[in-house]
Amino acid sequence: MTQGLEFSVSDLTVHYGGVCAVNGIGFTVPAGESVGVIGANGAGKSSALKALMGLVPRRVSSMRFGDVDLSRVKARDMVRHGIGYVPEGRHVFSGLSVEKNLLLGAYARPWDAKTRAGLADVYELFPVLGEMKDRLAGALSGGQQQMLAIGRALMSQPKLLLLDEPSMGLSPILVETILGVLQRLKGQGLSMLLVEQNAKLTFEATSTCLVMENGQVAMSGRSADLTHDARVRKIYLGL
Ligand code: ATP
Repeated sequence: MTQGLEFSVSDLTVHYGGVCAVNGIGFTVPAGESVGVIGANGAGKSSALKALMGLVPRRVSSMRFGDVDLSRVKARDMVRHGIGYVPEGRHVFSGLSVEKNLLLGAYARPWDAKTRAGLADVYELFPVLGEMKDRLAGALSGGQQQMLAIGRALMSQPKLLLLDEPSMGLSPILVETILGVLQRLKGQGLSMLLVEQNAKLTFEATSTCLVMENGQVAMSGRSADLTHDARVRKIYLGL
């Protein structure tokens, strides 16, 4: 896995007409670190992630990845700057095979030894995708499609992976599988920004975490510390 760079954002705002979905948030994902964003339905998590990717109109004071200014980079070019994106709801290409979906993830790369090794890495990370590589993606279960969406993003050999609710709609056992994968990627030094409603998963998969409420960062800190915070335990962990 490629070594990461620091990703930093300041004063990110998203409006949909008169609705302010994200209100001036800022944060840093240090090189090789994994940062979580939790929050209730409608807190603005997905909008923030889409805005970082340039998929919804945004205002941002600064957005940097290492020395590179990303604030004017278009969505289609983010991948060339080392940013991978796993969208909410997976969005796999149902009518294409599993392998073709994966290869599409590498569209911005040459078909060289590194890309071929990347495909082998994805099959090693998700053996079921290798077993089903010729099957149509639409025939996969929800959990398998989630693995495919993560694998497709990894095919671009990202230095930072943005993940939008990878646990959504999955059974507890599949959530554990996804957690194992995120922890493995973290162990390989891949920087990640993980947006989730599942706070337990997020705290286990990340080093630090932001809590979003009403479009703002209401709290932030080390994930291990947030699990002991009384308010977080009550509202987000249901304890
Ligand atoms: P969820 O977990 O349900 O995806 P979220 O924290 O990701 O929630 P967002 O989906 O970013 O929250 O939504 C933030 C706010 O923006 C909500 O009030 C939502 O209704 C609104 N919103 C989101 N997308 C749009 C849109 N395309 N047009 C108008 N309003 C939107």
